[in-house]
Amino acid sequence: MEQLTIHRNIPVKYTADLCIAGAGPAGIAAAVTAARRGARVLLIDHLAMPGGMSTAALVPVFMPCSDGVNFLAAGFGNEVIDRLQKFAARRNFDSGLAINAEHLKRVYDDLLAESGVEPLYYTRLIDAVVESGRIEALLCNSPSGNFAIKAPIFIDATGDGTLSVIAGAPFEFGGENGEVMPSTLCSLWAGIDFAAYRAGGAFSHNDDKMLAKLEEAFQRGELSVPDFHHTGVFRVSNVAAVGNITHVFDVDATDERSLTRGVIENRRLLAEYEEFYRRQVAGFAEAEIVGSGSVLGIRESRRILGDYVLNRDDYEARRDFPDEIGRYNFPADIHPPRPGKEEVIAHKKLFRSFCCGKGESYGIPYRILLPRGVENLLTCGRCVSCDRHVMASLRVIPGCYITGQGAGMAAALAAAAGTVPRKIDTAALRKELRGIGAFFH
Ligand SMILES: Cc1cc2nc3c(=O)[nH]c(=O)nc-3n(C[C@H](O)[C@H](O)[C@H](O)COP(=O)(O)OP(=O)(O)OC[C@H]3O[C@@H](n4cnc5c(N)ncnc54)[C@H](O)[C@@H]3O)c2cc1C
Repeated sequence: MEQLTIHRNIPVKYTADLCIAGAGPAGIAAAVTAARRGARVLLIDHLAMPGGMSTAALVPVFMPCSDGVNFLAAGFGNEVIDRLQKFAARRNFDSGLAINAEHLKRVYDDLLAESGVEPLYYTRLIDAVVESGRIEALLCNSPSGNFAIKAPIFIDATGDGTLSVIAGAPFEFGGENGEVMPSTLCSLWAGIDFAAYRAGGAFSHNDDKMLAKLEEAFQRGELSVPDFHHTGVFRVSNVAAVGNITHVFDVDATDERSLTRGVIENRRLLAEYEEFYRRQVAGFAEAEIVGSGSVLGIRESRRILGDYVLNRDDYEARRDFPDEIGRYNFPADIHPPRPGKEEVIAHKKLFRSFCCGKGESYGIPYRILLPRGVENLLTCGRCVSCDRHVMASLRVIPGCYITGQGAGMAAALAAAAGTVPRKIDTAALRKELRGIGAFFH
């Protein structure tokens, strides 16, 4: 590819104790935790809202937060879910773990403001100044132009590990052959007759009755991709539901052309599913899709390699770690990278074989937040250091709250002590995390 060399002066527009790239569930958990521990925190995101996939992509529901005995997303996660349920209760809706994305944005806005974090939206990380394994500044772009942000410590909460890769950290991508879980464009539905939907038995989205209807639609050509992995439509308020129902395969979240194809193809499939639901599913005769995610839902891209790589053996042994900062239990939910019945049967088998029993969980060591070769950087959320199986568990929102909370506390302690995250006392970190309600052994 042709290369251009550009020399320009860039203004240092902001400084902070900690700068976090990415305001998804992990970045927000990190920002609020660090600010409450006394750090001056800047949180940047190129979108116009907090929440990443949990709001902008319209993810419909929190995956498990508890192991049936202990609340695992304890501390920050607990607080978010409590506040969200209060919003729903004001509308007399018993939300459980369902997500009304607009309410969740307000919860995040409040938490960020109350803790004193400065969010900067419309701000995209484009590069970094890195010297001898240390990030000196982030280069960002916004409608104001290009500018730099300086801080002694940074957190990569971009989901795709973008900052870590810019800074030179090693990473893995997808499965053995680079295959990734499919993308989904979540959809907002109105006009559903919820009483009829329940009575129709379709609420359990992948029951045999629903799969038979899907198969007939594939055969008739009404649904153009024979995708048997059907996640379903989830009620998120008295009047609305969110569909997690399309899969577009082979989308590379680090490539703009691939993402563009993914989002256009997902939208085309949504039109097919809208007609399918209206014709085939009880309660949907008058339903319409009235919106879709502002961003494409991405399940998998890079995993940044850190001082430890949390792996399937650790999960299966429900391993404890001396430096653990939390625990989690969701099974490996590896959405098959190809459509087809056999793939879905294999997926369900793997998912079931991974399930933790009541009171069981695996430890999350602090070392998976420390990218190799970069001294003043932490990761959290979907891109932390683990194998594909553990990523498929830890990538969900409660898991991201846990690693975000751990990263935020570690960054604040390092900033206060004038040291780097790798050198902090992990016993002190664990004590502080326990003090804010985190759960671990
Ligand atoms: C379709 C789908 C359905 C899902 N369903 C569920 C579910 O039901 N329950 C559940 O618990 N989990 C679910 N998940 C998983 C979960 O939503 C995500 O894995 C989780 O949100 C990841 O959190 P994160 O903070 O690591 O990253 P993200 O949520 O991806 O947030 C990253 C943030 O970084 C920002 N960013 C990225 N690059 C830059 C840059 N260069 N400059 C500035 N900002 C940047 C992004 O705009 C984004 O706001 C689902 C995921 C998908 C895709």
